[in-house]
Amino acid sequence: MKENKKLPDKTVERLSQYRRNLLICVANGKSHIFSHEIAGMLHITSVQVRRDIMLIGYKGTLRKGYDIQELILLIGEIIDSNSGQRVAVIGVGNLGRAIISYLKGKRSKLSIIAAFDTNIEKVDRIYAGVHCYHYDRLAEIIKSEDISIGIITVPASEAAKVAENLVISGIKGILNFTPSPVNVSSHVFLEEYDMITSLEKVAYFVKKNEF
Ligand code: ATP
Repeated sequence: MKENKKLPDKTVERLSQYRRNLLICVANGKSHIFSHEIAGMLHITSVQVRRDIMLIGYKGTLRKGYDIQELILLIGEIIDSNSGQRVAVIGVGNLGRAIISYLKGKRSKLSIIAAFDTNIEKVDRIYAGVHCYHYDRLAEIIKSEDISIGIITVPASEAAKVAENLVISGIKGILNFTPSPVNVSSHVFLEEYDMITSLEKVAYFVKKNEF
């Protein structure tokens, strides 16, 4: 795949999911896998899997399928940055703390470097090995620690302000966990993840199937 060619974001999402499942396969002693097996694990079609894998320029063999180790390495080359990326969490409430603990050590190329909060009782405390700074120091620490990704876990009413401040501070990508959508300039990559909407969607379909 050409370095400068951007993949569609849904493909990037699926590549990340492929890698997680392939790592489980390796742990179970498997060396090769067919597209239909990957498709089965993720409840998608094998055509979709083949298309994504073709996009990153990988070919399997007809007889054995894809070499899992090779595929994991190639996905890493495509979606990880060489030097790794540094992440900050803004808002150390229940969700922020859970995210810090959950992500800690999960991905070697993504490190949570700092947390920020306005509550002075949380400032200068360590959460799962991550230092919590006062929110007033956002721009300073983002620059000095070379942080490129911000995860927003403040109350919804604060989200817009925090996103704006992150952009001013030079952040390159934002994952917004609040239910309040935010605006950022086009050079910043934004991903909104609203857990409540996802849960309500599931609840709606569960309700429809109730008698
Ligand atoms: P807790 O009970 O520990 O405060 P919570 O999940 O109820 O947790 P929320 O009200 O959701 O907390 O707020 C999340 C966190 O965001 C809190 O720690 C709060 O102090 C912090 N916070 C609120 N506004 C801001 C802001 N503008 N910048 C940074 N952090 C903020």
